[in-house]
Amino acid sequence: MFETLHPSKPDQIMALNAAFRADPREAKLDLGVGVYKDEAGRTPILRAVKAAERRLVETQATKAYLSPAGDPAFCAAMVALAFGADAPNDRIAAVQTVGGTGAVRILCDLVARAERGATVWLPDPTWPNHPAIAKQAGLGFRTYTYFDPATVGVAWEAMRAALSEAGPGDVVLLHGCCHNPTGADLTPEQWREIAALAVDRGFTPFLDLAYQGFGDGLEPDATGLRILAAAVPEMLVALSCSKNFALYRDRVGCAAVLAAAPAAADLAGDNLRALARVTYSMPADHGAAVVSTILGDAALREDWTAELDAMRARILTLRTDLAAALRERLNDDGFDFISRHRGMFSLTGLSAEIVERMRAEHGVYLVGDGRMNVAGLNAAGVRRFADALAAVRG
Ligand code: PMP
Repeated sequence: MFETLHPSKPDQIMALNAAFRADPREAKLDLGVGVYKDEAGRTPILRAVKAAERRLVETQATKAYLSPAGDPAFCAAMVALAFGADAPNDRIAAVQTVGGTGAVRILCDLVARAERGATVWLPDPTWPNHPAIAKQAGLGFRTYTYFDPATVGVAWEAMRAALSEAGPGDVVLLHGCCHNPTGADLTPEQWREIAALAVDRGFTPFLDLAYQGFGDGLEPDATGLRILAAAVPEMLVALSCSKNFALYRDRVGCAAVLAAAPAAADLAGDNLRALARVTYSMPADHGAAVVSTILGDAALREDWTAELDAMRARILTLRTDLAAALRERLNDDGFDFISRHRGMFSLTGLSAEIVERMRAEHGVYLVGDGRMNVAGLNAAGVRRFADALAAVRG
């Protein structure tokens, strides 16, 4: 039977990762896959995570099954982190998921159950897994213009015009902060306009918040989500602990649904649990138990927040340092936008040819569309990147 299969389309980022690992050059620079690296080039386990893991080893008394929804304390803590203290909890259903990816997938499955043939509107550009997941869940998708290469910012007028065409039964996916791949985020005023459009047009916002705490801080990064949650009757939210808890491989996330009324929230929760049950039965416990331990303990939570703040501050410093280095090295302020962008990524506007020459001639790895992971740099990397770009631009 397997000979009838078609080869799957290679995942660009995974392929880049493999090419980087196979590159024998000592002085190579990985700015591809989205992981945070410290000055020594490591992706550290956070102090609070280590402490919570030690505590779990000592105190956890059983590995018996939990439930398809995972750990309710974890879900409640994640909802509070994202929606804030005023969360309308009686209208929210949440389940623990296998990373943010698992949250996006189970929410797409839920939409497919609720509205067969629903259309998901995706930003152009977006994380390449978004269209792939929507398709796999049986949903149609359309795109809305998000990015303006000329201003290297959000193409607000075009975005607003496109979303004015979305209507009831449509789902509009929005990156909550730290847009991947562009690094260009919406302003609070623009979020308010989107909320008004959603109410007026009747579409359902779908917030993918994979980088809370990596942009301007835990609270500011939830601004868009909270503006929408206060205005719209219904909304879908995918959360990830991969970056802000650095739990990448432990696969921790949360899918939340805001429903128009408590009864609909119960129904959504029931369906999310049923979808989990037929997919993997129950999510893996360990990473979520770590997060729940940290968020439920004042001292661990404070230490986690401090370490997250330090990661964010370091990314912002790398951004200003890189913009300054490029200004000096290229005698050109055309890269100043890097310091205005937020999160791990910036879409640099570098052509596929320049990206390929950076890789081939200098061992500097960027994604083919010109996305760079700023959080993969260090002081030496900033200089190397600026030198390499100066060399290929001649
Ligand atoms: N959404 C977006 C926009 C992302 O960039 C990512 C991570 N690359 C995810 C979701 C999912 O992350 P994970 O499954 O690793 O938690």
